[in-house]
Parts: sequence; structure tokens; C-alpha cells
Amino acid sequence: MSVVKEVIEKVRRKDAGQTEFIQAVKEVLETLEPTEKKHPEFVKAKIYERIVEPERMIIFKVPWIDDSGEVQVNRGFRVQFNNAIGPYKGGLRLHPSVNLSIIKFLGFEQIFKNSLTTLPMGGAKGGSDFDPKGKTDNEVMRFCQAFMRELYRHIGPDTDVPAGDIGVGGREIGYMYGYYKKIVNAHEGVLTGKGIEYGGSLIRPEATGYGLVYFVAEMLATRKKDFKGKVVAISGAGNVAQYAVEKVNQLGGKVITLCDSGAAIVDEEGIDNNKCNYIMELKNVKRGRIKEYSSKYKKVQCFEGKSVWDVIKEKGIKVDIALPCATQNEIDKEHAEALVKNGCYCVAEGANMPCNLDAIKVFQSNNVLYGPAKAANAGGVATSGLEMSQNSLRLSWTREEVDKRLLEIMKSIHSSCLEAAETYGNKGDYLAGANIAGFIKVAKAMISYGIV
Ligand code: NAP
Repeated sequence: MSVVKEVIEKVRRKDAGQTEFIQAVKEVLETLEPTEKKHPEFVKAKIYERIVEPERMIIFKVPWIDDSGEVQVNRGFRVQFNNAIGPYKGGLRLHPSVNLSIIKFLGFEQIFKNSLTTLPMGGAKGGSDFDPKGKTDNEVMRFCQAFMRELYRHIGPDTDVPAGDIGVGGREIGYMYGYYKKIVNAHEGVLTGKGIEYGGSLIRPEATGYGLVYFVAEMLATRKKDFKGKVVAISGAGNVAQYAVEKVNQLGGKVITLCDSGAAIVDEEGIDNNKCNYIMELKNVKRGRIKEYSSKYKKVQCFEGKSVWDVIKEKGIKVDIALPCATQNEIDKEHAEALVKNGCYCVAEGANMPCNLDAIKVFQSNNVLYGPAKAANAGGVATSGLEMSQNSLRLSWTREEVDKRLLEIMKSIHSSCLEAAETYGNKGDYLAGANIAGFIKVAKAMISYGIV
């Protein structure tokens, strides 16, 4: 049995029950098999065993008081997975589904994603099972302060720099940073995604969605295609989805779907930038539901309780490109088969692990261009890295400067994936390429340190 297979089996036994983490380990390690032969030094130093074990996992109590004066208790997490190539870096997720398995899977993926960006960042992830939906601003503030009351002692601008993820946007980062600054008495680059007035970077809110679309443009170019006139299905209606819509529109494509956890909408006329502005206001300011879009605009179909991928499967909607931007495991084998049947030839992951392993196999065996999350959505963390650089320099770059760097980084990630895929015998396989390219750099750094 190969070393990577043995490691996968060991993780299955040791971390039994951590479904999402085991899924992520399997997805990464299986593609790393060709590196074993080329790098016997990795096998000897037990890099494969060591990389699936987090440096440390912090789990803590988050008590806070709601508006009615009642005490609430949530669970907080920070998994510091690997800091071989730079300080730990990765988002914070606030969602009722958050548990150790989900945070470990996200932290593990983050190691390779951050490595691919070319910037010096290690991998981590954190969050809580707190649900911001339906909470007042004051409740969200009290929760964020209680969360930071413990987290502050584990992070620092050269140690660990968290950012946003599901349920953590500008409002939450503001509350967390304000509290950190108060208790540590230092104004320093300890979080990214900060407001522009207090150390944030221009383009950071847009970066994941824009970067995703830049990456897809590169993928399409390998088949002499572009976005012009293409029909695009996007899921989610949050940060990543919103700016992916905006950039697809700028490049001449037509986005016809979005969803949240309550409903999916299909707008055959296309979600143009005016409609996208309405969604930004609805979601980011009014904190409303996507079904309200179908009352505002005519000829829009709304499917309550369904995902975008359910609707495409059930209604046989034709799309050229699919960009899942909501959450993990939203596309399964049947959804993937339906997409292929309906003419989809390119799928790129804005969300983390939105396609399960069977779905990925369907895309790969049908010659669909498949862009894995750690490459396709790396624009967000890359721009967080640029925010850290600006904080260290005590300078702010212009919008054009940051956008240009983002575009260059996405192009470089795209070519690193293809190069690594070819070198290790999997020409054109973005999944293998992204995993291998991200892994090699981290593995080499780990070897340099000896056994630590
Ligand atoms: P967000 O702003 O909180 O938006 C998430 C969106 O997905 C919301 O519309 C949410 O609907 C929807 N959603 C969540 N769970 C769902 C479910 N089970 N079924 C259907 N819809 C669901 O979060 P985000 O920052 O856009 O993150 C989306 C994905 O991108 C996540 O996988 C995240 O890890 C990944 N990502 C984000 C960044 C970043 O910079 N933000 C970077 C890289 C990767 P509700 O409002 O109803 O919950």
C-alpha cells in the first residue's frame, strides 16, 4: 500500500466521525501519490503523516448575553494547522453547523491554498456554532466581543491572522477588531477584511468573487473560449456570489441563478449589475432573504427549499458554466450528471469543497474543466495577504494596484496548477495540479526545519 493510502486509513481510524475532514484528506492525499516516488525525502521525514495533524486545536466557551438579558453559550474554535511557510492564516465561520470536523477540513485545505498564492501564509481556520441570522446588531457585537475575549491570546500579526468566512463580513470583523484593539492596546494587522478606514485593503471584499472569475477566464482560454454570451449558474447570495456576479457581468456573461439556504431563484433575463446592487443591499444591509428578489423583479422563478443545483436538475436548465459559491457538498453526483447533461463544460469552486468526490469524478470523466476551490477561490486570501503587506508597510495601495496584483496572482495560480499537473503525470488535471503545487512548497519548508 502506498504511504498516502496508509495515511488516509490512519486518519479514518484516528479521526473517525470527522466526515468533512476525512473527505478533504482523501481528496488531497490521493492526488499526492505521484510525489512519493519523486521525493523519497518526504516519505522518510513522514511529511504525509505530519501534514494531516494540526499544530494545535483550540476549543473554547463563548458566553454572552442576548437582548432579553438571557445568558447564551456557544462553542469557539481555532485550528492552527500548519505555519511552515508563514503565520497561520484563514477565516472565521459563524454558522450553526460549525464543528471540529468542518473547521479541520477548512484549515487543512487552507494550507495548500495559501501556499499556491505565492505569499508567505500558513493554514488555519476558526469560527463558532453561533448563528448570526435573526440576531440584532447588539447581539452580534456582544457575541463577537465574547469570542475575541478568548481568541486574542492565540493570534497576532506574526502568529495568526484570521479573516471572514460564512457569517463573518465587515460588520463582524469591525466588532472583533475593535475589541482586540481595546484589550491588547495595539493597532496592528491581526485581522484582514478590515474596513477601509482602519487598515483594510481596497478590493478585499470583491477579491474572492473577482479572483474566481479571473481564474475561470484562464481556464476557458485553454479551450479558446471566454465569458462573452455564456450562461452562468451561481449558487449562494453572500460575499463570494455577489462579486462573482459583478465580474461575470463585466466580462460579458449572463448569470441566471442565485440561492440562500431558504430558496433558489432563476432569472432567465440575467442578474445584471442593477439587480446585483439590489441583492447587495438586500443581503448586506437589510439582511433579507433571496426569495424577496422574485417579488421585486418580474419573470423570476423562485423555488423555496431548493438549491440552484436541485433546480437545474429538476427543470433541465441549460448552463455553460457553474460556479458554486454557497457551502460544502452542495453538488453531488446527480447534480453533476445533470449539469453535464445540460451542456455545462466548466465548473469552478467559489465555495470550499462544494462538489463532493463523486461529483468531481463525473466532471473529470466528462472532460468538464474543473477548478478546485483551493485554486479558484484563493483570490480572497491572496488579497488578505496583500492587506497584511500594506499594514506592515503602513501604506495603502490604490484599487487598480490591488486588482492588478490579484489578477496576476490568479494567473500565476492557474499556470502553477497546469505545470505541476503535467510534471507529475496528470496533464490538464487542475485538482492534482493545485494539490501538488501547494504541497511541494510546504513539504520542502517542513524538511528544512528538521523535526519540530
Ligand atoms: P456568506 O457571505 O456568509 O454567504 C454564504 C451564502 O451561502 C449565503 O447566501 C448563505 O445563505 C448561503 N448558504 C450557506 N449555507 C447554505 C446551504 N446549506 N444551502 C444553501 N445556501 C447556503 O459567505 P461567503 O463568504 O460568501 O462564503 C461562501 C463560501 O465561500 C464558503 O464555502 C466559504 O468558505 C468560501 N470562501 C469564502 C471566502 C471569502 O473571502 N469570503 C474566501 C474563500 C472561500 P443563508 O444566508 O441563508 O445562510
